[in-house]
Amino acid sequence: MEIEIATIGGYEEVGRQMTAVRAGDDIVVFDMGLNLSQVLVHDNLQTEEMHSLDLIDMGAIPDDRVMSDLEGDVKAIVPTHGHLDHIGAISKLAHRYDAPIVATPFTLELVEEEVHDEGKFVVDNDLVEMEAGETMSIGERCELEFVNVTHSIIDAINPVLHTPEGAVVYGLDKRMDHSPVIGDPIDMKRFREIGREGEGVLCYIEDCTNANKKGRTPSESVARKHLRDVMYSVEDYDGGIVATTFSSHIARVTSLVEFAKDIGREPILLGRSMEKYSGTAERIGAATFPDDLGMYGHRKSVDRAFNRIMEEGKENFLPVVTGHQGEPRAMLTRMGRGETPYDLEDGDKVLFSARVIPEPTNEGQRYQSERLLRMQGARIYDDIHVSGHLRQEGHYEMLDALQPQHVIPAHQDMGGFSGYVDLASGQGYELGRDLHVTANGNVIQLV
Ligand SMILES: [Zn+2]
Repeated sequence: MEIEIATIGGYEEVGRQMTAVRAGDDIVVFDMGLNLSQVLVHDNLQTEEMHSLDLIDMGAIPDDRVMSDLEGDVKAIVPTHGHLDHIGAISKLAHRYDAPIVATPFTLELVEEEVHDEGKFVVDNDLVEMEAGETMSIGERCELEFVNVTHSIIDAINPVLHTPEGAVVYGLDKRMDHSPVIGDPIDMKRFREIGREGEGVLCYIEDCTNANKKGRTPSESVARKHLRDVMYSVEDYDGGIVATTFSSHIARVTSLVEFAKDIGREPILLGRSMEKYSGTAERIGAATFPDDLGMYGHRKSVDRAFNRIMEEGKENFLPVVTGHQGEPRAMLTRMGRGETPYDLEDGDKVLFSARVIPEPTNEGQRYQSERLLRMQGARIYDDIHVSGHLRQEGHYEMLDALQPQHVIPAHQDMGGFSGYVDLASGQGYELGRDLHVTANGNVIQLV
């Protein structure tokens, strides 16, 4: 059976991930993501109304025109988790394929919301829910399996396409977490089985986000301990404490809510995306929050919540807000500019349970936001966070578990691949033979 891999997007950048695997006449597409930084550099760009080709030209979504080089039918579109660099282009591209979108429950909910907000295209692909550990048939001879992995968003999986020539493992976006705060640990047992059963692993596509970093990515339970330490240390402070984190990071939001209660403060989630992700997780039962937890997204209800905080005393609350990257229109930045009813005063604490995404736009915006907060007297607690991506020791462990015949580094630019190329070369792989450094828009013929 012929096996080809089309590396469509996310092989020259972190963002707009898209990969297609053709096994005989059947094709499975993994991820259709958005490159948010290409959107953010344009001020106030509303992508909902934009056409796919314009977004492709901007480099914001994957250029899927290479799909016409693959001879077969798309049988499934499989987003691995709910981050926008993996699902953000579904609303612009999925309608071109007569195939269902197959994902875990939380991811599927987020896809549904994306599709619902789309203003230009009608995306009416079937939405099929599949949990980690489950499988579905692809054509007559292949099978799709979801293996549970741990990442900075709940319900993340690595999809595996079992073909007669061996398994193709799409390994994007995970860290090796044996004690995640929500959900099951990464299923290394299953990865080891896949590496040893049948024809073994034909190809492994690897997440190289942190491939230039030594050592091991800590577990979410480490970030949770760090956060607890910081929050307990300010328990006696009788002024304002504000926290921010990735709103899609449900485990972290849960920890913030819990520790706020521990130190005698009422947590309130503020900001549109804060309300969206936590509200969705609660609605489908993927996370449990206290019954009385307030989540507000619309401007008016946010202002009402801030007014209540100011009336009843800042010392009684912990607003958990958007704006960890200094996004100009996010809540924390607006607080820094004095645009909300919340008054920051000398000595008030601002906790960033996040790390700046190392990218010039983010770094500049975050710098500005912090300056504004400091000018109001705020004291900053930074980097209360762990990454969601494997470092080098995790990569060694995955190669050992899967023993793949071919490896394709992904989710980075060329510079970012270098650490992985060194590492894989040291394990006996050879560039151009079984280690394929590629670019967007290429097709690699494996069998
Ligand atoms: Zn991710």
